[in-house]
Amino acid sequence: MAELNSNAQSDLARSEMKYRRLFESAKDGILILDAVDGSILEINPFLIELLGRSKDDCLGKKLWDIGFFNNIDVSKKLFAELQASGYVRYEDIPLKTKDGRAVQVEFVSNVYAVGGGSVIQCNIRDITERKRADDNLCRLASVVESLDDCVMSVSPDGAIETWNPACERVFGYAAKEIVGKPVATLCPDALLEEQARIMARVREGTNLRQHETIRIAKNGKPIDVSMSLSVLKDSQGTSTGHSTVIRDITANKHLEAKLRQSQKMEGIGRLAGGIAHDFNNLLTAILGYSELLLLSLAPNDAHRADVEQISKAGARAETLTRQLLAFSRQQVVAAKVLDLNAAIQELDMMLRRIIGEHIVLTFLPGRDLGRVKLALGQIEQIVMNLCVNAKDAMPGGGRLLIETKNVEPSASFDQSAPRPKEGPRVMIAVSDTGCGMTPEILSHLYEPYFTTKEKGKGTGLGLSMVYGIVEQNGGNIEVYSEPGHGTAFKIYFPQVGEPLVPVAVFPAVAASLSGSETLLLVEDDEMVRKFAVRVLREAGYLILVASSPTEAVRIVGEHAGEIRVMLTDVVMPGMLGYELVQRVAPLKPNMKIIYMSGYTEQSIVERALLKGAQFIQKPMGREVLLQEIRKALDASRTPA
Ligand code: ADP
Ligand code: MG
Repeated sequence: MAELNSNAQSDLARSEMKYRRLFESAKDGILILDAVDGSILEINPFLIELLGRSKDDCLGKKLWDIGFFNNIDVSKKLFAELQASGYVRYEDIPLKTKDGRAVQVEFVSNVYAVGGGSVIQCNIRDITERKRADDNLCRLASVVESLDDCVMSVSPDGAIETWNPACERVFGYAAKEIVGKPVATLCPDALLEEQARIMARVREGTNLRQHETIRIAKNGKPIDVSMSLSVLKDSQGTSTGHSTVIRDITANKHLEAKLRQSQKMEGIGRLAGGIAHDFNNLLTAILGYSELLLLSLAPNDAHRADVEQISKAGARAETLTRQLLAFSRQQVVAAKVLDLNAAIQELDMMLRRIIGEHIVLTFLPGRDLGRVKLALGQIEQIVMNLCVNAKDAMPGGGRLLIETKNVEPSASFDQSAPRPKEGPRVMIAVSDTGCGMTPEILSHLYEPYFTTKEKGKGTGLGLSMVYGIVEQNGGNIEVYSEPGHGTAFKIYFPQVGEPLVPVAVFPAVAASLSGSETLLLVEDDEMVRKFAVRVLREAGYLILVASSPTEAVRIVGEHAGEIRVMLTDVVMPGMLGYELVQRVAPLKPNMKIIYMSGYTEQSIVERALLKGAQFIQKPMGREVLLQEIRKALDASRTPA
C-alpha cells in the first residue's frame, strides 16, 4: 500500500515536473490568477522577461496593480467578464516591455476548477510582428485601392478574385457583380484566343509586361488598355493564380492618332502646296499667253474658240491650285476682324438656294458673339462647303443647323482631344441629320481628293480646304458622326479683342494700264519672265530684266537712270526677294517694290505686306500685272 502510495506520489511529482517545465519554457506568457480576487498566483519566465519585472514584483498583486494593462478600467472590466463567462479572448492589447517597446499581445483566458476552488489561466502571446505584417497588408491594400490603374487578382481557374475601385471606374462593374466571374468576361470575343494564349503562358510561369490590347467595359465600350500579368505564388511556391494590372490608354491612343493624323496632313499639305506652286508658274504662261493671243485675234477669227478652250481649262486648273493652296494653308488672304453672325447671315439666301427646299435650314446665332479674325471669303468657303456636304448627305431631306457661340476652352472641349490653344474661342457648328460617316471615312476626311461621291459629283477638296483654312487661322476642327445618325462639324476660332474693321473699299482700277516708265523685272522662271516682259513691253514700259537676284543687284548698281518699280519673285535660288530688296534699296531709295509669288506661305505674304510692298499672287494675268504696276507708279507720284 505504502509502495503504491509512493509510486502514485512519484507519478504525480513527474507529471507536475513535466507541466512545470512546460510552464517555465513556454514561448508564450502564462499567468495563473486567483479566480475570485484576480491576484497573481503564478507567472512564467517568458512573461517576466517580456514585462521586465521581477517575479516577486508580480506574485500576489492584482493584474491591474502591476500596470500590466495600460488601462485599469479595461483590466477590471476584463476580469469581471472573465469571471462571468469563464473564457475571454482579446486580440489586440497594448503592452510595454522592460526596454520600453510597445508590443501587441493576444490574450486568452480560461477559468479552471482546481481542487475546491478555481484559477484562471491567461495565455499572452506577442503578436507585434504579426500585427505589423497585418498593418502592412492593410496599407498595401489601401495603396491598391487608391491606384489609378486597375488591379485585380485572378484564381488559377481564371475567376476574378479581387477588384479595386479603379477597375470599377474603368470597366463599370462593381466588385460584387464581377468577383467570381471569369476574367474573360472583360475580353472581346475576337480576342478570346489571344487571352487563352496569354493565360496558358502565365500558367507556365511567364509574366506578361505592358501588353497593349482591347478590353470591354460593362456598357460594351471597347477600351484600349496596357496590361501586365504576374504569376502569384504562396509561401510554398505553388501558383495561386495571377495578378493583372490594367491601364486605360484610350486617351493616349486618341492623342497618338490625332498626332499621326496631323503629321500626315502636314506632309500632304507640303506636297500639295509644292505642286500648286509649280503649277502656278505654268498657269501664268498658259493663261497669260492665251490672253495675249485672244487680244491679237480678230473677233471672228476661226482660232478664237480653240484659244478660249485653252483659257477655260487653264482657269479650271487655277481653281484647283487655289483649293490646294487653301488646304496647304497657303491661300493669300487679308484677314480682317469679323462678326461671324453677320457673315453667315449674308450667306443665308444663297445657302437656302443651294440646299433646296427639302432641307430645313436653321441658323442659331450666338449672343454677344466674340469677334474672329479671318478673311470673309474664307468664312464663306467653310460654310458653303460644310452645307453642300450636309445637303449631299441628306438626299431625302432633313434638318441642317448652323450654330455659333462663345466657348471657354476648359469647359467645352472633349477631354480626350488634344488641348486647343488657350483662350476663349468662337465656335461655329454645322450639323445635319444625314447619312453620317463610318470610322473609315472619318480617318480620311480631310485628305485632298478623298471623296465617297461618284465621279463628277465630288472633288474631295471641300473639307481639305476647310481644314486648311481652319489651321491657317489658328483654329481647331472636330467632327462627330455616326452612320445613320448624322454629322456635326465644330470649328473653333480664337476670339480677338480688336474692334471690327469696316469693309475695305477696293481702290478704283487705274484708268490707264500703259506707261513708259523704267521697270526692273527679277524672275528666275523663264516662262513667267518672258510672259511678263512681253506684257510690260507691249504696254509701253522700258524693261530691265534679271533672271537672278545677283544679276538684279548688278543692274541696279550699273543703271544710271531712275528705276521706278522693281517687280521681283520672292523665292529664288541664292537670295530671297526680301534680301534682294535690302541690298538694292539704298542704291535706289525711291524705287517701289512689288513682290510676286506662287508660293504663298502666309509668312511670305505678310512680310511683303508689312513692308508696305505690293504683292501679286501667281498665276497672274496680264490685267492684274498691269494694274499692280500702275498702282505702284501712281502711289509713288502722290506725295505721302
Ligand atoms: P466631296 O464633297 O467633294 O466628296 P469633301 O472633302 O467635301 O469632298 O468631303 C469628303 C467626304 O466626306 C465626302 O465624300 C463624304 O463621304 C464625307 N462627308 C463630308 N461631309 C459629310 C456629311 N455632312 N455627312 C456625311 N458624309 C460627309
Ligand atoms: Mg464637299
